[in-house]
Amino acid sequence: MKQSQLFTRTRKDAPKDEVSKNAQLLIRAGYIHKEMAGVYSYLPLGLRVFNNIIKIIREEMNAIGGQEITMTTLQSPKVWEQTGRWNDEVIDVWFKTALKDGAEVGLGVTHEEPLTALMTEYIQSHKDLPVYVYQFQTKFRNETRAKSGIMRTREFVMKDMYSFSKSQEEFKIFYEKCAAAYKTIFERVGLGNHTFRTFASGGSFSKFSDEFQTICEAGEDTIYIHRAKNIAINKEVYNEETVKDLGVTMEEFDQAKAVEVGNIFPLGTRFSDVLDLNYKDETGKAIPVVMGSYGIGPARLMGTIVEVLSDEKGIVWPKEVAPFAVHLVSLAGDNVDVKKEADRMYELLTENGIEALYDDRDLRAGEKFADSDLIGIPLRMIVSEKSMAAGNVEIINRADGSVQRIAESKIIEFLKG
Ligand code: ATP
Ligand code: MG
Repeated sequence: MKQSQLFTRTRKDAPKDEVSKNAQLLIRAGYIHKEMAGVYSYLPLGLRVFNNIIKIIREEMNAIGGQEITMTTLQSPKVWEQTGRWNDEVIDVWFKTALKDGAEVGLGVTHEEPLTALMTEYIQSHKDLPVYVYQFQTKFRNETRAKSGIMRTREFVMKDMYSFSKSQEEFKIFYEKCAAAYKTIFERVGLGNHTFRTFASGGSFSKFSDEFQTICEAGEDTIYIHRAKNIAINKEVYNEETVKDLGVTMEEFDQAKAVEVGNIFPLGTRFSDVLDLNYKDETGKAIPVVMGSYGIGPARLMGTIVEVLSDEKGIVWPKEVAPFAVHLVSLAGDNVDVKKEADRMYELLTENGIEALYDDRDLRAGEKFADSDLIGIPLRMIVSEKSMAAGNVEIINRADGSVQRIAESKIIEFLKG
């Protein structure tokens, strides 16, 4: 894509009403647009990053047998009344509205209830299980706090997966498989070294659920980490008893701020009991289905990457999530030959399937480099009089600033390697 065609622009100053680093940088670089507190639109660069994150999650969910669907945002109260979760005291973030005839509807905050009800039509026999269903779907939550940029918004896409199993044993096998898939996802988006599987409250059956917490100053959670044993515990369940059960002592833990980028949750038969999701075993006996839920917020993940990996110059995207693989910067000035060479380089990259943002604008080098640093594409490739004279191109690594000079004939090989 040619940068001269991109309708968004970078800006020097952070918006005054934005306190979070992720939103400040993403707005300054032209990735997102703030509609109101806790509500953001995704612009061309932002959508590319967002879609890359979704692609990674989708690949990993498919790899463990997930079947993708999309459910509706509009929710009938009926099924939620059955589980008691229509009540605003039980779920305090509902957005509720009404049909023309006055009948109440809600905007989905999560989807355990409607999916469990849906599955009663498809799960009857032990032969129908296990089954794993997931979606990328927009949730609405009337969050009280909305100061964390895209990490906590009132309208956001969630990847929510739900597992349906015959027994606790069968459930537990998938639960661990999903935990492993989550680990891979956080590694692929570049947060592997910063993210811990963390004991948290709220499991049905087992005492705990598991959160995936990324160490981050802007995080709203506090966790305790045992580095040597790779154990992390959310503050809400951090006590003598929990620690003792794990065979360690409280002195061995460090405290850290963290953000919950995902969670996996044993649901037991809490929903299947109430909503009559049963299957018949070999003997014809009706048995409630054992469920689990597995969430990730792609936008929260995107915001967290910005919080954790950016530097004083701007954003630093890891390879797999970056909006483009290469930022091709032409320093042509009035030199027609340099311009031609940069154009040719852009074509070469495109022909070889390498996604490039091509800064073909007529600006000073300093401005172009500042924009490039802010936007944060992993590799910057410079075409200038100097590089042309030397017969090579300069490639600068955004993350560590290292410079490599690569002969023109070796460029594609280098970028694909
Ligand atoms: P939190 O404790 O941070 O409020 P939660 O426990 O309510 O989150 P879930 O309902 O389990 O979160 O949602 C699953 C995932 O969706 C979370 O792990 C997070 O990544 C993401 N998520 C939750 N709330 C938001 C939000 N308001 N904005 C963006 N992403 C969110
Ligand atoms: Mg939580």
